Amino acid sequence: MHKRHFLLYIIVILSLLGGGIISALAADDPAAIVDSAAFLAAHMTPAGPAAEKFSAAADKLVAQMTLKEKVGQMTQLEIGMVTDGMDTAITINPEKLRKAITEYGAGSILNTNHEGLSPEKWHEIIGAIQAEAKKSRLRVPVLYGIDSIHGVTYVVGGTLFPQPLAMAATWNPELMLRGSQISAAETRKAAIPWSFSPVLDAGRQPLWPRLWETFGEDTYLATVMGVATVRGYEGTDVSSPEHVAASLKHYIGYSFPTNGGDRSPALIPENTLREYFLPAFASAVKAGAHTVMVNSSEVNGIPGHANSYLLKTVLRDELGFQGVVVSDWNDIEKLVTIHHVAADEKEATRIGILAGIDMSMVPSDYRFSDLLLQLVQEGKVPVGRIDEAVRRILILKYQLGLFADPVRGEESKTVVGSAESRGASLEAARESITLLKNADHTLPLPKTARVLVTGPDADSLIPLNNGWTYTWQGDKASTYPKDYATILQAIQQKIGADKVTYVAGTTIDQEVNIQDAVAAAANADAIVICLGEWAYAETPGNIADLALPEAQINLAQKMLDTQKPVILVLTEGRPRIIRPVVGAAGAIVMAYNPSNEGGYAIADILFGDVNPSGKLPITYPMWPGRLFTYDHKAFETGDGTISTLDTPQFEFGYGLSYTTFSYSDLQVTPPAEAGDRKIHVEVTVKNTGDRAGKEVVELFLNERFASVTPPLKRLKRFAKISLQPDESRRVTFELGADDLAFIGADNKRVVESGVFDVRVGSQQQSFEWR
Ligand code: BGC
Repeated sequence: MHKRHFLLYIIVILSLLGGGIISALAADDPAAIVDSAAFLAAHMTPAGPAAEKFSAAADKLVAQMTLKEKVGQMTQLEIGMVTDGMDTAITINPEKLRKAITEYGAGSILNTNHEGLSPEKWHEIIGAIQAEAKKSRLRVPVLYGIDSIHGVTYVVGGTLFPQPLAMAATWNPELMLRGSQISAAETRKAAIPWSFSPVLDAGRQPLWPRLWETFGEDTYLATVMGVATVRGYEGTDVSSPEHVAASLKHYIGYSFPTNGGDRSPALIPENTLREYFLPAFASAVKAGAHTVMVNSSEVNGIPGHANSYLLKTVLRDELGFQGVVVSDWNDIEKLVTIHHVAADEKEATRIGILAGIDMSMVPSDYRFSDLLLQLVQEGKVPVGRIDEAVRRILILKYQLGLFADPVRGEESKTVVGSAESRGASLEAARESITLLKNADHTLPLPKTARVLVTGPDADSLIPLNNGWTYTWQGDKASTYPKDYATILQAIQQKIGADKVTYVAGTTIDQEVNIQDAVAAAANADAIVICLGEWAYAETPGNIADLALPEAQINLAQKMLDTQKPVILVLTEGRPRIIRPVVGAAGAIVMAYNPSNEGGYAIADILFGDVNPSGKLPITYPMWPGRLFTYDHKAFETGDGTISTLDTPQFEFGYGLSYTTFSYSDLQVTPPAEAGDRKIHVEVTVKNTGDRAGKEVVELFLNERFASVTPPLKRLKRFAKISLQPDESRRVTFELGADDLAFIGADNKRVVESGVFDVRVGSQQQSFEWR
């Protein structure tokens, strides 16, 4: 075929695949705008090799297996079941290993014993496990899994990225893709082929202690970031030494506990579940994710691990998921001890397996294996259900290339924690940081300024990272690397230590020496107060009050009283209420958990070396008792002008820049009567300030009247663009019927005729759909 014809042919195929043409062109033209829809279209193709390729081999193996071997494959144990010792001093215990692998045939092992390990140590441990598996009757390799939540949590020296909430604040899926590629390569370099990530739970309950593990409150932003993560992890070939299998978690509704606590009940009507919680999972399944982890808690009174409707009817039949469903930690037993839907563990095992759990994260005993064996022998669980689960697990092991090489990745060219990977993390941190207030150009500060740095988060890497960092809780200072700067150190490096004074002022919730800070303020031109949270993960992170602890508010108040310019820097995993100090603060910088490069990124922004471009992926509430998401119902807040009860502190999608952007000439071409009923949207965005900057162009849509009370607005598209001073660009988006649809009272997707408003920046226009 002639080269040009071949190119045309490719473009036609890509456009048939839906929107791919835009990104295909974008790849050649750096100035082209890749909007969220084009990004999605370009990254939806599942990674090979296809499951069908291994069907026959898996069937053959299943046919050779004893019942005990099959049940073994469905068993996932924690590392302590094959090792002795703690932290980096763990060693394989040969007798434990023999029991786990040879006697019980455990299909999978997970986790560390508290601390992360060096790649070499991982090779030693996983090498021994796989060597034992090779000695077993059928030589089935073990599937190792780990929580590489924001980069390689548990690989010492590896690259860590901003936590997912911060990654979402970049509104830049290319950064998410790159970060996930690096995370996958470094995880696989440790011979680990499976990451328990991404968290696709919708972050719509700000108290929830895992909010920062999510991509925020909006289902569309989470969809785009989720697909970017799956593609980065799994690539085009999940068997390659640079890729790992993803695990979509925690399916589904985990993130919306009524009381705000971890593993607490949620009440979510099915149409709401389908509208706000399911889409991110549905798209990630379509993008080929190989595994799904189940919600530890319950929705509408049915525990996630007992919910066959969600695990089978919805996940399998409707979404077409073909991979492995793994339980969360000890969650079959918890059907007895926490949820009380089973009187004993045997009954719990029956319920969980029949509901659709393929692999149980047991993780610390052999009761699951023993009980499941008995249940099958007694005819209480059909052997067909076991074969189905084992087949899926074996196929996954084939797809990951583990039968060919159980420690694949060990020999890869990946350099763990390379300068380039650190650079990618720094870039992500810079793009995530969100400027929430900047009165009278308080920022950027001149590098000649004398600065007082204070606050509990100023001089530690811990709050920059949060949980899942070298340890589960991320709070063990000795595990942190020495070659990264805290916020304080980064500021010292940026402007010279002689110009910086540091007084801690408070811990997270106790006053220490606020008076010293007040005294030190006398000699400062500006005060940077680093407020927020420490590190936590899961239940230990539960709180009773979203307000920032009083000690910190006090510190901020005392600093404001000095009348010096005050900059609040927030490092926190959820939006702690700061209302009492917002009004008088000169500037507010939301840094989320930007990780190890975060100190540098914050200093870059404070002193103007980087122009901020992050936007909030959540609503920042003003009051602890008045919580709503941006896509709430219109009547929840009136028109937002009646009282401050009705406005958030900062809106979803909000974020300032050191330059200004104007929006003009919004043009919405209504859909044709028939045929291709696309809605074409165009808007001009101009950089009206005096420095280059990046802007996130956000397209919101709402229907004025609908049979289910319509939300105020929904995010439907976005694109992050770069503009030089005075430069303007015409940004175009295309919407289709699916973007106008919502889940009706009958839980089905419907498009209703009516008037729709399109909003982009300050512009608004309507169209009618009949
Ligand atoms: C968490 C999961 C995690 C698992 C394994 C559980 O407690 O809920 O998100 O993947 O532990 O570490």
